[in-house]
Amino acid sequence: MEKLAYHCRHKMLVCLPRTLSTISKRTHKSFSAENASVNIQSPSKPCMSIPKVSRIFQPSNLREGYEGGDMTCRSQRLMLQAGLIHPSNPGCFYYLPTALRSLEKLVRIIDEEMQAIGGQKVDMPALCAAELWRRSGRWELMGKEMFRLQDRHDIEYCLGPTHEEAVTELLASQSTLSYRQLPLLLYQVTRKFRDEQKPKFGLLRGREFYMKDMYSFDISEEAAQQTYESVCHAYGRLFNRLGLRWVQVQADTGKIGGTLSHEFQLPADVGEDRLLFCNNCTFSANVETVNTEETNCPQCHTGTLNESKGIEVGHTFYLGTKYSEVFNAMFINSQNKPMVAEMGCFGLGVTRILAASVEVLSTEDAIRWPGLLAPYQVCIQPPKKGSKTHSATHLAEELAQSLGDCLPNLRGEVVLDDRTQLTIGKRLKDASRLGYPYVVVVGQKAMEEQPLFEVLCQGTGETMFLSKEALVDLLSQVETV
Ligand SMILES: [Zn+2]
Repeated sequence: MEKLAYHCRHKMLVCLPRTLSTISKRTHKSFSAENASVNIQSPSKPCMSIPKVSRIFQPSNLREGYEGGDMTCRSQRLMLQAGLIHPSNPGCFYYLPTALRSLEKLVRIIDEEMQAIGGQKVDMPALCAAELWRRSGRWELMGKEMFRLQDRHDIEYCLGPTHEEAVTELLASQSTLSYRQLPLLLYQVTRKFRDEQKPKFGLLRGREFYMKDMYSFDISEEAAQQTYESVCHAYGRLFNRLGLRWVQVQADTGKIGGTLSHEFQLPADVGEDRLLFCNNCTFSANVETVNTEETNCPQCHTGTLNESKGIEVGHTFYLGTKYSEVFNAMFINSQNKPMVAEMGCFGLGVTRILAASVEVLSTEDAIRWPGLLAPYQVCIQPPKKGSKTHSATHLAEELAQSLGDCLPNLRGEVVLDDRTQLTIGKRLKDASRLGYPYVVVVGQKAMEEQPLFEVLCQGTGETMFLSKEALVDLLSQVETV
């Protein structure tokens, strides 16, 4: 594949699609023809067909009454209007195909960062027995926020809002967990449920949402603190990769418990968290943790505290043995004695990060994504049907196909806006609203002897005319996940 891409970059328009489809056809045949070794030696993915904008299920003309609730914000409005999400019950949404592409990219980045620090992915049941929650004392404590239900035998359950009980019970069931296996970091990315009194702001405060929750088990308090630090660093790296401005603030431990806690916040006016920052030192905290009678900084005692608002996108807790003692989650230490494991838990609001990024990066009428999360990286615009340049249509189609095929980073990332009954102007407006990082217009200059393509870069606002070689070079730099 790399060789093909190289070939393509330097010799442009060698009919790559056909080459690729031949390879994949052959591979396919040999699969059924009992010669599996050939497949192992030449793995090749099937040739991609380029998605056409007219065929993408992205319903953007809503009937009256489909507002998605009263309390709206920019990200909710933009995502509804663009056909990325669709309202269901209060606080519940359909994630439509385009939004799901972004969500899956975000999950891939989260997986990379969690696995880089040793995280192992699991998937725990959403249906959690009340009995477990009674043992930790949280069945009562959670109050009305928890969705509760009963099975046919009248056994009580909840739809898991978080999984400290479940994961600790899982560890407690292991009789031979050795200190050599610790730290153990288990995480999942699953739907969580919370019966919000007032769901609002679209995906920012829903009743059903995706969360990444990681649970750590360590041999000592010191080791657990190190794990805590390493997860905080991973969170920082994640937000940096997304190009988001973020802050880490001291936080309340709330209903999770423990002794140490931080929130990761994206500063935003729509944010529901009030944050305090010292103008003299590095102190920053959620207002909940600070005695508001005091106006001086509790850390340096001389600086004053300034308030701003943020959207909480991550939360970390050092739990100590709060859960492991209750459930008897033990490991065998180096002296062959059973010891209670030290725990931490670490959350990321996955759908919330998606919406919060749109919230903080977009303009009033145009979505802007973190580059890595854009549903598609490139949109190719053929000329309008019946226009002078109509004959360049096939150039646009070829360009879309060959970019998607020969640049490995753009595989599946190129769409063709085939709604050629619309003017270029109208289609460019839609493209800007959806926030494709690169829009390529195939017009008059593409038909000249030295063909040039008009390239609009959303990130910089630049417009350039590039040869196909230069365009391929530019796009080969695009980072995708
Ligand atoms: Zn200070």
